[in-house]
Amino acid sequence: MSAVPLRNDKAAASGVRRVTVLGATGSIGDSTMDLLRAAPERYQVEALTANTNVDGLVKLAMEFRARFVAVADESRLGELRAALAGTGIESGAGDSAIIEAAQRQSDWLMAAVSGAAGLKPALAAVDRGATIALANKECLVCAGDFFMQRAAQSGACILPADSEHNALFQALGSGNREELTRVIITASGGPFRTWAAADIEQATLEQALKHPNWSMGQKITIDSASMMNKGLEVIEAAYLFALSPDQIDVLVHPQSIIHGMVEFRDFSVMAQLGSPDMRTPIAHCLGWPDRIPGRAAPLDLAKVGTLTFETPDYARFPGLKLAFDALRTGNGVTTVYNAANEIAVAAFIAQKIRFGAIARLVEATMNDWVRAGNLAPLSSADDAIAIDHRAREMAATLLPQIAAKAF
Ligand code: NAD
Ligand code: MG
Repeated sequence: MSAVPLRNDKAAASGVRRVTVLGATGSIGDSTMDLLRAAPERYQVEALTANTNVDGLVKLAMEFRARFVAVADESRLGELRAALAGTGIESGAGDSAIIEAAQRQSDWLMAAVSGAAGLKPALAAVDRGATIALANKECLVCAGDFFMQRAAQSGACILPADSEHNALFQALGSGNREELTRVIITASGGPFRTWAAADIEQATLEQALKHPNWSMGQKITIDSASMMNKGLEVIEAAYLFALSPDQIDVLVHPQSIIHGMVEFRDFSVMAQLGSPDMRTPIAHCLGWPDRIPGRAAPLDLAKVGTLTFETPDYARFPGLKLAFDALRTGNGVTTVYNAANEIAVAAFIAQKIRFGAIARLVEATMNDWVRAGNLAPLSSADDAIAIDHRAREMAATLLPQIAAKAF
């Protein structure tokens, strides 16, 4: 059975639900806590985690009376323990504490750490057969098929929380798997949708951080500007729903009202619509298999007025095409795509490379990786993590020459 549930897997949930939020202090964490706050009688918070933000974590821990909190940065343990003294809230620090948070029994877990750092904690939740709302797309891109196989083996239930994938998840319920012909994920096109290639090349950090529709964490906002985010999402969709690259289309839709569509063989197309607010897909995951009251603004299509669509431009956004290349090559190359992109985004934020160099660094890393004959299917999380590390090193080595190249 697939780890992403089918519509007829429905069985009503009842009673108080014990929930854990990995990455509670981030943008998705914030939206998740907002939904929990709206119905405190329904939820008991088991565990919350953060990277370094002790203040934010403690505030949430106190508000929600969490049982356990963990901070990834080990040097912050003293500070965390002091702030929680006398509260009875257990705490820990370091990667092992984040994993402990994932392992503790809960009825529902939000995986919202950013980047490949989220892989091991998400797998820890998978291995206890948890119900997981998966926002952390990089962990899926990094571990690919292996992640989904492990979920199928353990009986974990993966609920897609990324808005496009949540839309597909909802729309897929309208037909059977054999009747599906393709899925369409929409992209806002980001802040540079109408920019000339030469201007995109020189875009500043401030410009890249101005997303027209969505308010999100820094890394994903830059990925949206480069359309690398859509590339990661193409790969995420392929693994989540076991689709071939030819079954996945990307459609630029600047209003971000339709999040995803599924086409069946009679050419009926089912779409999910909603205001661009992550609280809607998160609410769908949190309530699943029921529906709970949402927190986003209800959709007012008359006010939106017009929905428009464009074909993505691979020439101006080469990172999107690279995702399809990575998926077609398989054998760990999607892991390389993600790792090189994480290095490139960090270098762009540190102003070591121009915006246009992000995709060039990813392409150069993928090419060198394939040329070196490093291709083999992933068979463990350690495999994925080893590829991730080697690809990061390769990207870091290529960085100076990519940075120096004039365009
Ligand atoms: P963010 O940067 O706002 O938050 C990330 C969270 O993870 C924070 O709580 C941070 O403390 C924690 N974290 C970061 N590095 C860590 C590490 N090494 N170890 C442990 N914890 C760590 O990011 P976000 O925008 O909330 O995105 C989280 C994930 O959800 C990403 O994978 C992103 O692609 C995905 N996602 C985000 C959105 C969105 O609207 N923000 C939409 C869809 C998917
Ligand atoms: Mg998305």
